[in-house]
This record gives sequence, C-alpha cells and structure tokens, in this order.
Amino acid sequence: MGHQGVGEIKHIVAVASGKGGVGKSTVSTNLAVATAQLGHRVGLLDADIYGPSQARLLGVEDGVMPDVIDEKIFVPIQAHGIYAMSMAFLTREKTPMVWRGPMASGALQQMIDSTQWGSLDVLFVDMPPGTGDIQLTLSQRTKLSGAVVVTTPQDIALIDARRAIEMFQKVSVPILGMVQNMASHICTNCGHEDPVFGHAGGESLADEYEATLLANIPLSRNIRETSDAGRPITVSESDGAVASLYRTAAASVVSALSRTEAPRTPTISMTD
Ligand code: ADP
Repeated sequence: MGHQGVGEIKHIVAVASGKGGVGKSTVSTNLAVATAQLGHRVGLLDADIYGPSQARLLGVEDGVMPDVIDEKIFVPIQAHGIYAMSMAFLTREKTPMVWRGPMASGALQQMIDSTQWGSLDVLFVDMPPGTGDIQLTLSQRTKLSGAVVVTTPQDIALIDARRAIEMFQKVSVPILGMVQNMASHICTNCGHEDPVFGHAGGESLADEYEATLLANIPLSRNIRETSDAGRPITVSESDGAVASLYRTAAASVVSALSRTEAPRTPTISMTD
C-alpha cells in the first residue's frame, strides 16, 4: 500500500493549553522547527478547530492547497524544515470549518492517518485550546506519546493549565513538560528583560506535577512580528537567544520521548 499513515510516526505529541491566547500555536510551530533543527524528521498538525493559525505562522500563502493522492490522502506542506498539515490549508482563512463535527467526534486520528507524512520521528499536534469534551476525546482517541502544556505566568492561565495537566493524566498521557510563555518582557529599546509576572507560577506548577519546565519564553515583540510574518523566530533569528531556548526545550522533549514506551495504544473510553 502506498498509504503512509500513522504506522511510520514514532511519536505523536499534543501541544495543549488550558485556554486560548497563551501562545500555544506559536510555541507549537517553534518547538516543531527547533526539533527539526536538531536533526529529527518532524511533522506539525494544526488541530486547533477554533482558530487554525499554522498556515499564517508558517508563511503558507492563502490559497496554497496540499496535493491530494487518490482523492483521499493529503501530502503535507513543507515549510521551514517541517511537514505541516492544517485544515487552514484546505479551507481559506475565515471559511467555516466544515470538519468541526468529525473533529469533535475524535477524528484527529483520521486526519493523521489520511496524511502522507512519510516516516516521522515526532508529529506535534497543535490542539484546540481548553479542556472540554473535544480535547478529552481527541486525547483519548489518538495514540499520543505525551503532551506539552503551554501556560503563561498569570494565575488564571495557571488554573487552566492545571486542568490541562489533569485531563492528560485522566487519559494516561504522560506530561513531557511545560512551556511557560510570555514569562518576562524584553524591552525593544534596550533589550532589558523584566520578569513582569515572575517565573514562579510555572515553576511551582511544574514541581507540583513533577513535570519538567521545558522553557521560559519571554514576551517579545520580535516573537509576535516574526510569527505574523510567517517566519517563526527559530527561523528568522535561528542564532538568537529565543531559538536556543526552543532547541533546549526540543532536546528535552526528545529525551523524554526516548524514555516513554513507544506509541501508547488509546485508552479504553470512560463511558458511563
Ligand atoms: P494560542 O494558540 O494559545 O491561542 P497564539 O500562538 O495564537 O496563541 O498567540 C496569541 C498571540 O500572542 C499571537 O499574536 C502571537 O504572535 C502572540 N505571542 C505568542 N507568544 C508570544 C511571545 N512570547 N511574545 C510576544 N507575543 C507572543
């Protein structure tokens, strides 16, 4: 069979957050690119049904469509050294997402299976934000090796992050680590780093759940501008401090994956 589905993917890693707007998609892109920069073959699936943004983040122009084989297998789009697939490539930005139904019923696995990824070391999945039924079902019905939880230092985001960690625990998906985003502010004028919210929140949360704090990523105008321009900071400033934080985080994820038993089978659903 020519179909190269999930069988050749060593690890599927969910990138999740308790709520929207914490930078989950930005972190997904940069973590994926950084992992590829370490020499791994990496895929990125945008499963954020509420606001698929990977097309923009990766600089894939509006209207660029993935090739389709036999009317059913998608060929991922290559950008910045990774293989990416997003419904945003199929439906233009602002088009209603016709696949919300299938997604809600846990069809993420189906999307993974109907994409010709080739052999991948890691497939990162940019999950929909939140910890509701959709996220739970997706986590349950996909063969996840682990999850990375993205948070910001603010209390409310931490409460939500806690829910995200507990959701993965409920379905026995190992937490590979946490990324604390917008952890400090870097002044555009003088480069001074100011820990506006302090670093303590993410660190204590990580401690509490015995999770690794993979990185503290600063709030920086460059991160937003490079993302908006479709050239993630790991690409546009690949020798910079932030890119190096991401590569350290990526190395830590890869090493955590090597310690997990290769792909889990989905957990039996907890129906009542
Ligand atoms: P989410 O996927 O959690 O909804 P996004 O990745 O879309 O969040 O990020 C939300 C907004 O914040 C975007 O405009 C993005 O460019 C910006 N952003 C994300 N991380 C940072 C950061 N570390 N510094 C500055 N802006 C950021």
